[in-house]
Amino acid sequence: MNDSPTPVAYFTMEIALEPEIRTYSGGLGVLAGDTARSAADLRVPLVVVTLLHRKGYFRQEIAKDGTQIEHDGTWPVEQHLQRLDATAQVEIEGRPVLLRVWRYDVVGQGGFVVPVHLIDTSDKQNSEYDQTLTDYLYGGDKHYRLCQEAVLGIGGVRILRALGYNSVRKYHMNEGHASLLTLELLDERLRAEGRTAAEPDDIVPLRKMCVFTTHTPVEAGHDRFDQQAMERVLGARKEFEMKDGFCSGGVCNMTYLGFNMSSFINGVARKHGEVSREMFDNYSIDSITNGIHAATFASPSMKKLFDKYIPSWNSDNFRLRYAMSIPHHEIWEAHLEAKRRLLSLVQERCGQTLDENVFTIGFARRVATYKRADLIFNQLKRLRDISKRSGKFQLIFAGKAHPADVPGKELMKRVFDAKRELGDDVPIAYIEDYDLEMGKIITAGVDTWLNTPRPPLEASGTSGMKAALNGVPSFSVLDGWWIEGWIEGVTGWSISTNGGSVDSDHDDVEEAQALYRKLEEVILPCFYRERVRFLDIMRHSIALNGSFFNTERMMKEYVLKAYFT
Ligand SMILES: *Cc1c(COP(=O)(O)O)cnc(C)c1O
Repeated sequence: MNDSPTPVAYFTMEIALEPEIRTYSGGLGVLAGDTARSAADLRVPLVVVTLLHRKGYFRQEIAKDGTQIEHDGTWPVEQHLQRLDATAQVEIEGRPVLLRVWRYDVVGQGGFVVPVHLIDTSDKQNSEYDQTLTDYLYGGDKHYRLCQEAVLGIGGVRILRALGYNSVRKYHMNEGHASLLTLELLDERLRAEGRTAAEPDDIVPLRKMCVFTTHTPVEAGHDRFDQQAMERVLGARKEFEMKDGFCSGGVCNMTYLGFNMSSFINGVARKHGEVSREMFDNYSIDSITNGIHAATFASPSMKKLFDKYIPSWNSDNFRLRYAMSIPHHEIWEAHLEAKRRLLSLVQERCGQTLDENVFTIGFARRVATYKRADLIFNQLKRLRDISKRSGKFQLIFAGKAHPADVPGKELMKRVFDAKRELGDDVPIAYIEDYDLEMGKIITAGVDTWLNTPRPPLEASGTSGMKAALNGVPSFSVLDGWWIEGWIEGVTGWSISTNGGSVDSDHDDVEEAQALYRKLEEVILPCFYRERVRFLDIMRHSIALNGSFFNTERMMKEYVLKAYFT
């Protein structure tokens, strides 16, 4: 069962394994999946621990006016996973909770397997409430979430032991959701030495074993729980009282817990590393820029083209650099095939017929307000005028708002308001229930990828990387990965005010104006009247950005900087 004596254990609350396995909500989960896929390709001995999320993240339906309707995301567990015999137990509010575990194999190109273990509390022996603990991803209240984190962190370490993973090289926490694993590692040490209370020195050896990745500067991404709630769920612990620990003023912060217990901490792009160092100035925080799994996100037609001109691209993503040798017209043909696939998806799912000759802008991601899906609709009249003067364009949207995110849902409705207002002048399609499969089809099939976050809140962003790999240039605010991937007019275009300074105050009206100007004066003329130049930008997107912003390069960085040190 246990192939490698000293694997790296990767703990994550969400992971995107297959579109149908609804154990992910957005970028964090897609990244976890791509991390596992690249680890398997590179034969890095990773084992993944996560929760089963039997009822998943919700399935989205959208009413005509843009109102989001949420359905249960139950998925056929038995069809996708194998149930294992190992069990473990964790105490929650003093109750023993029995944990079972399911397995999914991520198989690399050479056959190497990264096993994913999904913890399940639905056993009949557990209380009715405890049976629900591994049902919903990001559902329920704070108490439910804390219990889930106990199952993931503490239960996860115990499940690993039950599976025979007794020596693990590193524990990698994908965000603070998994931080409680550090308390279990501490307890294991005490139990082994027959002690009951930890001393500050006990943290030193633990730290060497832990790696923590922070994924967002947004407040909601940093879990905090009342100390009283922690005591009720986990029992009283000396660590809650520690000076300079992770609890202060009666509030415990899971990011600080992870930070305090880790020897390597990183943000997910260079800029995000800087922003995190400003936010948490007592810690040494490095950065490893995110990526995407190239073989997963290259469209079938692009794959064929890469196979023809860069035969080993798939086992050595750096070679995508040689995309410069692919003839322009073949890139266009491969792109057109991906575009047709997208337009037929739009036809099928929205009943709308879009024209393949029209410039198509894509915007698909979680509908979080800071991502500003409605920035482009700041002035509808201006959009209409641009379309008349510089050339027609159309927009394709997708994305779910978290069920509790009222402003996010309002934002979705504003997109639908704009869609109604603009009618046939600027056709807009909004595809329901954004998922991994759609993520592939939309990023590959549009002509440019729009990204308008409010800086510096986009820690990395990865959908623009999927687009780049498929020859689709980004048109984006300078934030996250785009600061690293952007060369104006070579790999795409920036949306910037104040001459491109990244830290300026951001004003929606001003940024919308900058967006309109560039769309009208640069991008549409290039697409319609200087096609060769546009094709050159597409080719550079692959060669310069596809070759770098992938999880193969990212995993190699984790191996060198974090895992095998
Ligand atoms: C890639 C992807 C994301 C991440 O999008 P960002 O650009 O990072 O916001 C979210 N959801 C799905 C389904 C994806 O495929």
